[in-house]
Amino acid sequence: MSTVLIRALFTSLLAPAGPALPPVVSRSPLVFFHVDSGGCEACSLEVEALRKGDYGLAEAGIVFTDAPRLADILLVTGTCTRMMAPVVKAAWEAMPQPKGLLAVGACAIDGGPFAENYAVLGGLEKRASVDCAIPGCPPTPDAILQGIVNLLSPTPAPIMEA
Ligand code: SF4
Repeated sequence: MSTVLIRALFTSLLAPAGPALPPVVSRSPLVFFHVDSGGCEACSLEVEALRKGDYGLAEAGIVFTDAPRLADILLVTGTCTRMMAPVVKAAWEAMPQPKGLLAVGACAIDGGPFAENYAVLGGLEKRASVDCAIPGCPPTPDAILQGIVNLLSPTPAPIMEA
């Protein structure tokens, strides 16, 4: 899924009250599948807080699933370890088209403090086409939500620092 398409999806899903935008795809809400691929797990905890907290995700048209075959967006946290790389790959391959890849946190983007070694591959940016990246170590739930909207909005707002 291209960044342009994801931007259009979020624009339609998160648009304030006004004239209804035409649907971009048949599936709505937009469904996320989360994989924690390594790191210290703090980013994963922040994503869980976003999922379970009162952030109005459902109202914004964002839901999480535990089944990658139902997901539109693969949300990855943590630096990718060699052990978890097949899990990330399997989740991606199980997802139907169109689909997008979202990296949350410094580790998921470029490996963060974890250098490549015998156990760690590193971030996604050198190994995959990342549609959206949300910085932070870790980003807060608000920052994750704002970062998603910001990165995919046609009129970006400042990214909230974690
Ligand atoms: S980016 Fe920071 S908080 Fe997130 S998993 Fe890596 S070290 Fe932990």
